[in-house]
Amino acid sequence: MNRNKKISLELAYRLGTERLEKAGVPDSGIDAWYLLEYVTGIGRAAYYADPGREMDVTQWDDYERFIDIRCRRVPLQHITGEQEFMGLRFHVNKNVLIPRQDTEILAETALDILEKADKAHGSREKKVRLLDMCTGSGCILLSVLHYFGDRAEGNGSDISPKALETARENADSLGINAEFIESDLFENITEKYFMILSNPPYIRSSEIPKLQEEVRLYDPIEALDGKEDGLYFYRRIAAESPRHLETGGYLLVEIGCDQAKAVAGLMKEQGFKDICVKKDLAGLDRVVCGRYY
Ligand code: GLN
Repeated sequence: MNRNKKISLELAYRLGTERLEKAGVPDSGIDAWYLLEYVTGIGRAAYYADPGREMDVTQWDDYERFIDIRCRRVPLQHITGEQEFMGLRFHVNKNVLIPRQDTEILAETALDILEKADKAHGSREKKVRLLDMCTGSGCILLSVLHYFGDRAEGNGSDISPKALETARENADSLGINAEFIESDLFENITEKYFMILSNPPYIRSSEIPKLQEEVRLYDPIEALDGKEDGLYFYRRIAAESPRHLETGGYLLVEIGCDQAKAVAGLMKEQGFKDICVKKDLAGLDRVVCGRYY
Protein backbone atom coordinates (compact mmCIF):
# COMPACT_ATOMS: atom_id res chain seq x y z
CA MET A 1 0.00 0.00 0.00
CA ASN A 2 1.27 3.47 -0.91
CA ARG A 3 2.32 5.09 2.36
CA ASN A 4 1.38 8.58 1.27
CA LYS A 5 -2.07 7.66 0.15
CA LYS A 6 -4.83 8.80 2.46
CA ILE A 7 -7.05 5.95 3.47
CA SER A 8 -10.65 6.51 4.42
CA LEU A 9 -12.37 4.29 6.96
CA GLU A 10 -14.65 3.04 4.23
CA LEU A 11 -11.78 2.08 1.94
CA ALA A 12 -9.88 0.42 4.78
CA TYR A 13 -12.95 -1.59 5.69
CA ARG A 14 -13.40 -2.72 2.08
CA LEU A 15 -9.72 -3.59 1.57
CA GLY A 16 -9.61 -5.45 4.89
CA THR A 17 -12.75 -7.44 4.06
CA GLU A 18 -11.40 -8.38 0.63
CA ARG A 19 -8.08 -9.50 1.99
CA LEU A 20 -9.68 -11.67 4.66
CA GLU A 21 -12.11 -13.12 2.16
CA LYS A 22 -9.27 -14.06 -0.20
CA ALA A 23 -7.52 -15.84 2.68
CA GLY A 24 -10.70 -17.87 3.28
CA VAL A 25 -11.46 -16.36 6.68
CA PRO A 26 -15.11 -17.00 7.57
CA ASP A 27 -17.20 -13.88 8.32
CA SER A 28 -14.57 -11.64 6.73
CA GLY A 29 -16.77 -8.52 6.88
CA ILE A 30 -17.45 -8.90 10.58
CA ASP A 31 -13.80 -9.42 11.44
CA ALA A 32 -12.65 -6.53 9.23
CA TRP A 33 -15.16 -4.38 11.07
CA TYR A 34 -14.00 -5.47 14.55
CA LEU A 35 -10.38 -4.81 13.68
CA LEU A 36 -11.20 -1.39 12.25
CA GLU A 37 -13.10 -0.51 15.41
CA TYR A 38 -10.28 -1.92 17.51
CA VAL A 39 -7.53 0.21 15.90
CA THR A 40 -9.50 3.42 15.47
CA GLY A 41 -11.85 3.26 18.45
CA ILE A 42 -14.59 4.42 16.10
CA GLY A 43 -17.98 2.78 16.69
CA ARG A 44 -20.69 2.03 14.17
CA ALA A 45 -22.67 5.25 14.61
CA ALA A 46 -19.59 7.46 14.16
CA TYR A 47 -18.51 5.42 11.15
CA TYR A 48 -21.81 5.81 9.35
CA ALA A 49 -21.92 9.51 10.17
CA ASP A 50 -18.69 9.99 8.20
CA PRO A 51 -17.35 6.91 6.38
CA GLY A 52 -15.03 9.10 4.28
CA ARG A 53 -13.07 10.17 7.37
CA GLU A 54 -9.37 9.46 6.98
CA MET A 55 -7.32 7.19 9.18
CA ASP A 56 -3.97 8.12 10.73
CA VAL A 57 -1.03 6.42 9.07
CA THR A 58 -0.24 4.53 12.27
CA GLN A 59 -3.82 3.31 12.51
CA TRP A 60 -3.67 2.08 8.94
CA ASP A 61 -0.34 0.34 9.64
CA ASP A 62 -1.83 -1.41 12.66
CA TYR A 63 -4.96 -2.33 10.76
CA GLU A 64 -3.00 -3.85 7.87
CA ARG A 65 -0.80 -5.76 10.27
CA PHE A 66 -3.77 -7.16 12.16
CA ILE A 67 -5.58 -8.09 8.94
CA ASP A 68 -2.46 -10.00 7.85
CA ILE A 69 -2.32 -11.82 11.18
CA ARG A 70 -6.03 -12.70 10.90
CA CYS A 71 -5.35 -14.01 7.36
CA ARG A 72 -3.14 -16.62 9.01
CA ARG A 73 -6.28 -17.71 10.89
CA VAL A 74 -5.10 -16.39 14.24
CA PRO A 75 -8.42 -15.86 16.09
CA LEU A 76 -9.62 -12.31 16.35
CA GLN A 77 -9.62 -12.66 20.14
CA HIS A 78 -5.89 -13.36 20.15
CA ILE A 79 -5.32 -10.11 18.27
CA THR A 80 -7.55 -7.98 20.48
CA GLY A 81 -6.64 -10.01 23.60
CA GLU A 82 -10.21 -10.15 24.83
CA GLN A 83 -13.56 -11.91 24.59
CA GLU A 84 -16.90 -10.98 26.05
CA PHE A 85 -18.72 -13.62 28.09
CA MET A 86 -21.97 -13.10 30.04
CA GLY A 87 -21.63 -9.39 29.30
CA LEU A 88 -18.20 -9.20 30.96
CA ARG A 89 -14.82 -8.67 29.33
CA PHE A 90 -12.22 -11.40 29.72
CA HIS A 91 -8.52 -11.30 28.85
CA VAL A 92 -7.60 -14.22 26.63
CA ASN A 93 -4.43 -15.57 25.07
CA LYS A 94 -3.01 -18.77 23.68
CA ASN A 95 -2.95 -20.37 27.14
CA VAL A 96 -6.72 -20.45 27.60
CA LEU A 97 -9.69 -21.65 25.59
CA ILE A 98 -11.49 -18.63 24.17
CA PRO A 99 -14.85 -18.45 25.99
CA ARG A 100 -17.70 -19.65 23.76
CA GLN A 101 -21.20 -18.28 23.74
CA ASP A 102 -22.55 -21.84 24.20
CA THR A 103 -20.87 -21.95 27.59
CA GLU A 104 -23.12 -19.13 28.81
CA ILE A 105 -25.80 -21.85 29.18
CA LEU A 106 -23.64 -23.47 31.86
CA ALA A 107 -23.21 -20.17 33.73
CA GLU A 108 -26.92 -19.35 33.41
CA THR A 109 -28.00 -22.79 34.63
CA ALA A 110 -25.70 -22.41 37.62
CA LEU A 111 -27.17 -18.99 38.43
CA ASP A 112 -30.73 -20.35 38.17
CA ILE A 113 -29.96 -23.16 40.59
CA LEU A 114 -28.17 -20.81 42.99
CA GLU A 115 -31.05 -18.31 43.00
CA LYS A 116 -33.60 -21.06 43.68
CA ALA A 117 -31.50 -22.57 46.44
CA ASP A 118 -31.02 -19.13 47.94
CA LYS A 119 -34.78 -18.45 48.00
CA ALA A 120 -35.49 -21.87 49.50
CA HIS A 121 -32.95 -21.34 52.25
CA GLY A 122 -33.72 -17.76 53.16
CA SER A 123 -30.69 -15.99 54.49
CA ARG A 124 -27.71 -18.28 54.90
CA GLU A 125 -25.02 -17.63 57.39
CA LYS A 126 -22.41 -19.14 55.17
CA LYS A 127 -21.69 -18.28 51.58
CA VAL A 128 -22.31 -20.99 49.01
CA ARG A 129 -19.06 -22.46 47.75
CA LEU A 130 -18.38 -23.14 44.08
CA LEU A 131 -15.62 -24.97 42.26
CA ASP A 132 -14.97 -24.38 38.57
CA MET A 133 -12.82 -27.27 37.41
CA CYS A 134 -10.71 -26.72 34.25
CA THR A 135 -11.37 -23.01 34.69
CA GLY A 136 -9.15 -21.73 31.84
CA SER A 137 -9.77 -17.97 31.56
CA GLY A 138 -11.97 -18.21 34.67
CA CYS A 139 -14.99 -17.07 32.67
CA ILE A 140 -17.51 -19.49 34.21
CA LEU A 141 -16.54 -19.02 37.85
CA LEU A 142 -16.05 -15.26 37.58
CA SER A 143 -19.28 -14.55 35.75
CA VAL A 144 -21.30 -16.65 38.22
CA LEU A 145 -19.61 -14.88 41.16
CA HIS A 146 -20.15 -11.50 39.51
CA TYR A 147 -23.90 -12.03 39.07
CA PHE A 148 -24.56 -13.90 42.31
CA GLY A 149 -22.63 -11.31 44.27
CA ASP A 150 -21.23 -11.83 47.73
CA ARG A 151 -23.61 -14.68 48.54
CA ALA A 152 -21.07 -17.06 46.98
CA GLU A 153 -17.36 -17.65 46.98
CA GLY A 154 -15.35 -19.94 44.83
CA ASN A 155 -12.28 -21.69 43.57
CA GLY A 156 -11.14 -22.22 40.04
CA SER A 157 -8.78 -25.07 39.26
CA ASP A 158 -6.73 -25.95 36.23
CA ILE A 159 -3.78 -28.17 35.40
CA SER A 160 -2.15 -25.27 33.54
CA PRO A 161 -0.32 -22.64 35.63
CA LYS A 162 -0.36 -20.31 32.63
CA ALA A 163 -4.13 -20.58 32.33
CA LEU A 164 -4.40 -19.77 36.04
CA GLU A 165 -2.30 -16.64 35.54
CA THR A 166 -4.87 -15.44 33.03
CA ALA A 167 -7.76 -16.42 35.30
CA ARG A 168 -6.20 -14.42 38.16
CA GLU A 169 -5.72 -11.45 35.87
CA ASN A 170 -9.41 -11.66 34.95
CA ALA A 171 -10.45 -11.87 38.60
CA ASP A 172 -8.38 -8.75 39.32
CA SER A 173 -9.71 -6.72 36.44
CA LEU A 174 -13.31 -7.67 37.26
CA GLY A 175 -12.71 -6.94 40.93
CA ILE A 176 -13.76 -10.43 42.03
CA ASN A 177 -12.28 -12.28 44.95
CA ALA A 178 -11.60 -15.86 43.90
CA GLU A 179 -8.91 -18.34 44.70
CA PHE A 180 -7.28 -20.39 41.97
CA ILE A 181 -5.69 -23.77 42.52
CA GLU A 182 -3.25 -25.59 40.27
CA SER A 183 -4.57 -29.13 40.14
CA ASP A 184 -4.88 -32.10 37.82
CA LEU A 185 -8.64 -32.51 38.28
CA PHE A 186 -9.21 -33.27 42.00
CA GLU A 187 -5.56 -33.95 42.86
CA ASN A 188 -5.09 -30.81 44.98
CA ILE A 189 -8.73 -30.17 45.86
CA THR A 190 -9.32 -30.63 49.55
CA GLU A 191 -12.63 -28.91 50.29
CA LYS A 192 -16.29 -29.63 49.72
CA TYR A 193 -18.53 -27.47 47.56
CA PHE A 194 -22.22 -26.78 47.05
CA MET A 195 -21.64 -26.78 43.30
CA ILE A 196 -18.96 -28.09 40.97
CA LEU A 197 -18.97 -26.67 37.47
CA SER A 198 -16.84 -27.75 34.56
CA ASN A 199 -16.34 -27.28 30.86
CA PRO A 200 -13.71 -29.97 30.47
CA PRO A 201 -11.99 -30.97 27.23
CA TYR A 202 -14.55 -33.12 25.40
CA ILE A 203 -13.61 -33.48 21.77
CA ARG A 204 -12.70 -37.00 20.61
CA SER A 205 -9.01 -37.15 19.67
CA SER A 206 -9.95 -38.36 16.19
CA GLU A 207 -12.09 -35.24 15.64
CA ILE A 208 -9.32 -32.76 16.49
CA PRO A 209 -7.80 -32.70 12.96
CA LYS A 210 -11.25 -31.75 11.59
CA LEU A 211 -11.67 -28.63 13.73
CA GLN A 212 -11.49 -25.21 12.11
CA GLU A 213 -7.99 -23.79 12.03
CA GLU A 214 -8.65 -21.04 14.58
CA VAL A 215 -9.54 -23.73 17.13
CA ARG A 216 -7.14 -26.48 16.05
CA LEU A 217 -4.06 -24.27 15.84
CA TYR A 218 -4.69 -21.63 18.47
CA ASP A 219 -6.88 -22.94 21.30
CA PRO A 220 -4.76 -24.98 23.74
CA ILE A 221 -5.03 -28.64 22.74
CA GLU A 222 -5.19 -29.68 26.40
CA ALA A 223 -8.42 -27.68 26.69
CA LEU A 224 -10.02 -29.55 23.77
CA ASP A 225 -8.89 -33.16 23.73
CA GLY A 226 -11.28 -35.46 25.61
CA LYS A 227 -9.18 -38.48 24.56
CA GLU A 228 -10.39 -41.54 22.69
CA ASP A 229 -14.17 -41.28 23.11
CA GLY A 230 -14.26 -37.67 24.33
CA LEU A 231 -15.58 -38.81 27.72
CA TYR A 232 -12.34 -39.26 29.65
CA PHE A 233 -12.78 -36.17 31.86
CA TYR A 234 -16.48 -36.77 32.53
CA ARG A 235 -15.67 -40.27 33.75
CA ARG A 236 -13.15 -38.94 36.24
CA ILE A 237 -15.18 -35.91 37.29
CA ALA A 238 -18.35 -37.98 37.82
CA ALA A 239 -16.41 -40.55 39.86
CA GLU A 240 -14.41 -38.12 41.98
CA SER A 241 -16.79 -35.21 42.56
CA PRO A 242 -19.11 -36.93 45.10
CA ARG A 243 -16.31 -36.75 47.69
CA HIS A 244 -16.12 -33.00 47.13
CA LEU A 245 -19.83 -32.20 47.16
CA GLU A 246 -21.89 -31.20 50.18
CA THR A 247 -25.04 -33.31 50.69
CA GLY A 248 -27.49 -32.25 48.00
CA GLY A 249 -24.71 -30.52 46.07
CA TYR A 250 -24.75 -30.08 42.32
CA LEU A 251 -22.48 -31.15 39.48
CA LEU A 252 -22.91 -29.21 36.22
CA VAL A 253 -20.89 -29.95 33.12
CA GLU A 254 -20.84 -28.62 29.61
CA ILE A 255 -20.98 -31.36 26.98
CA GLY A 256 -20.61 -31.82 23.24
CA CYS A 257 -24.05 -31.95 21.61
CA ASP A 258 -23.97 -35.76 21.13
CA GLN A 259 -22.77 -36.60 24.65
CA ALA A 260 -25.84 -35.98 26.84
CA LYS A 261 -26.91 -39.61 27.13
CA ALA A 262 -23.42 -40.92 27.82
CA VAL A 263 -22.62 -38.26 30.42
CA ALA A 264 -26.02 -38.58 32.13
CA GLY A 265 -25.34 -42.35 32.24
CA LEU A 266 -21.91 -41.84 33.83
CA MET A 267 -23.40 -39.58 36.47
CA LYS A 268 -26.21 -42.02 37.19
CA GLU A 269 -23.68 -44.84 37.63
CA GLN A 270 -21.91 -42.77 40.28
CA GLY A 271 -25.16 -42.23 42.19
CA PHE A 272 -26.18 -38.76 40.98
CA LYS A 273 -29.91 -37.99 41.14
CA ASP A 274 -32.29 -35.45 39.54
CA ILE A 275 -30.23 -35.53 36.35
CA CYS A 276 -31.27 -33.03 33.72
CA VAL A 277 -30.04 -31.81 30.34
CA LYS A 278 -30.14 -28.19 29.13
CA LYS A 279 -30.05 -27.11 25.53
CA ASP A 280 -28.14 -24.20 24.00
CA LEU A 281 -29.65 -21.46 21.83
CA ALA A 282 -29.23 -23.66 18.75
CA GLY A 283 -31.44 -26.30 20.42
CA LEU A 284 -28.53 -28.70 20.99
CA ASP A 285 -27.85 -30.52 24.25
CA ARG A 286 -25.18 -28.47 26.05
CA VAL A 287 -25.25 -28.98 29.82
CA VAL A 288 -25.86 -31.98 32.08
CA CYS A 289 -26.57 -31.44 35.75
CA GLY A 290 -27.16 -33.75 38.65
CA ARG A 291 -27.36 -33.77 42.45
CA TYR A 292 -25.58 -35.88 44.97
CA TYR A 293 -27.21 -36.78 48.31
N1 GLN B 1 -16.90 -26.09 22.59
C1 GLN B 1 -15.53 -26.14 22.23
C2 GLN B 1 -15.39 -26.23 20.72
O1 GLN B 1 -16.36 -26.37 20.03
C3 GLN B 1 -14.85 -27.31 22.89
C4 GLN B 1 -14.61 -27.01 24.30
C5 GLN B 1 -14.24 -28.19 25.10
O2 GLN B 1 -13.67 -29.19 24.66
N2 GLN B 1 -14.55 -28.06 26.31
O3 GLN B 1 -14.31 -26.10 20.19
